[in-house]
Amino acid sequence: MKITVFSTKRWVREFFERVNGEFEFELRFLEARLDRDTAQLAAGSDAVCIFVNDNADRPALEALSRAGVGMIALRCAGFNNVDLSAAEELGLTVARVPAYSPYAVAEHAAALILGLNRRLHRSYSRVREGNFSLDGLMGFDLHGRTVGVIGTGTIGEIFAGIMQGFGMTVLAYDRYPRDELAERGVRYVGLEELYRESDVVSLHCPLTHETYHLINEYAIRTMRDGVMIINTSRGALIDTTAVIEGLKSGVIGSVGLDVYEEEADLFFEDLSDQVIKDDTFSRLLTFPNVLITAHQAFFTREAVENISRTTFRNLAEWHSGTGCGNCITAAAGYGARRPPG
Ligand code: NAD
Repeated sequence: MKITVFSTKRWVREFFERVNGEFEFELRFLEARLDRDTAQLAAGSDAVCIFVNDNADRPALEALSRAGVGMIALRCAGFNNVDLSAAEELGLTVARVPAYSPYAVAEHAAALILGLNRRLHRSYSRVREGNFSLDGLMGFDLHGRTVGVIGTGTIGEIFAGIMQGFGMTVLAYDRYPRDELAERGVRYVGLEELYRESDVVSLHCPLTHETYHLINEYAIRTMRDGVMIINTSRGALIDTTAVIEGLKSGVIGSVGLDVYEEEADLFFEDLSDQVIKDDTFSRLLTFPNVLITAHQAFFTREAVENISRTTFRNLAEWHSGTGCGNCITAAAGYGARRPPG
């Protein structure tokens, strides 16, 4: 079976080639991101493998279908960048990697909290320049504070446990509250109460029509003064303009982001020689109380190994027609890069 791998980076190739020893697929690695213009590069392949910032919208899927591709294998958990309705109409199978290392993402969210709270990003630079002043570096004890977890699925559950380990009270909001978390001391509340009571709000729900810009001007107005907002889920859960206003007014105390709504043009590339054209992103970078990482929460050895193996298993299952446990359908999500409206 021939597979075209879009958005290839050195680490993708390294892990895929190693795991492919067990599968012996014919792999073609492309650095290009998938979109409506690059889709034709997959001509002659049975399947394509894509990542978070590839854009599998309707025109791209139509071009893939015309090129003879039958399957889209996502090497990630989120699938908001695939138009699932279009895929279904075109008879394209779409599979994802639902879980690979939820610990990687939950631990990174914790790292953002600790780093931001104790201003590690600032003290690191200061000490290197011989500035040993503590001004502006004061944090707060996490112990005894309250964290609000939005989305208590695989990652949210682990994150909640880590936060309990710090002695924090954990409030949670999920469309489907889980008894086992409640039994472990997580208290499910409505969104408003979560915003009102939380010192830290951390997002672990998927991006859907319902959660698009969940953190907006209204939500921020409801939050505690000085709240810390953490997003390791998907960028568009946050209305960045509203967050910038919240930071300027001081309502938001700090923000830790591993994802950004317009990250597709920035993240995973070395743009250090170029001018960043995204003014909103550039504005975010000016705040001393904002810590941004470039979608690296998943990036541990264990996670990438699991991603590679599950992606290949998904492809093998589809190829052999033995069923597809990790396939997704339009009913599972809205399937578009941006929800309408
Ligand atoms: P999951 O499907 O196990 O859990 C998601 C949870 O969100 C579920 O409990 C679901 O009921 C809940 N949910 C759905 N809609 C909701 C809503 N409207 N309001 C509140 N809760 C809602 O997913 P997961 O594996 O825990 O991953 C969570 C998200 O993390 C993914 O959607 C993905 O976008 C993101 N992610 C990011 C990275 C990264 O590297 N930054 C890596 C993996 C996953």
